Amino acid sequence: MVQSWETLEESCRSCHACPLGQTRRNLVFGVGPRDAEILLVGEGPGAEEDARGEPFVGRSGKLLDTMLAAVGLSRQHNVYIANMVKCRPPQNRDPLPEEQDTCINWLRGQVALLRPKIIVCVGRVAACRLIDPDFKVTRQHGEFIDKNGVLMMGTLHPAALLRDPGKKPDAFADWLALRDKVGEICTHTELWYE
Ligand code: URA
Repeated sequence: MVQSWETLEESCRSCHACPLGQTRRNLVFGVGPRDAEILLVGEGPGAEEDARGEPFVGRSGKLLDTMLAAVGLSRQHNVYIANMVKCRPPQNRDPLPEEQDTCINWLRGQVALLRPKIIVCVGRVAACRLIDPDFKVTRQHGEFIDKNGVLMMGTLHPAALLRDPGKKPDAFADWLALRDKVGEICTHTELWYE
């Protein structure tokens, strides 16, 4: 049972349950309003996130922020952002299944406290773990799936968009669909256009 954000974050910050805890510079817990109705889940911190202790602050993060801002969403106002694993996997490799298994209770705690209406899996790793092990991002991105009363959607990872900018319109369609879904089911998410 999770008591509060403070207890969860404090115990997470002292976690050394897997080898990633030995090599991290900073643990990357998550960022955003703790009453957000939308949760974004990436795969794990990269070099810049590890250095700063915040998710999605490198090149991918900047692109993610730009796409979010275009649909009235941001970590400052209405979206909580976390990762499957809280510590950086070396050489930016995908987090191993056993690392995800060890770390997933922190994410479960975050979900229990946040009680989001919508969870967006940013990229294949989160979508395969949280939606369906056989999830095919290129085919199934943008589809909303109800899982125990929470709407789940997988989208293309911004790193994939930086490698192949031709996929940006597909990804942007997902964020537009998210904005529409927010209008349908969220109760206190205000869209912000700066
Ligand atoms: N990629 C992710 O999946 N998460 C981050 O926090 C940064 C890059």
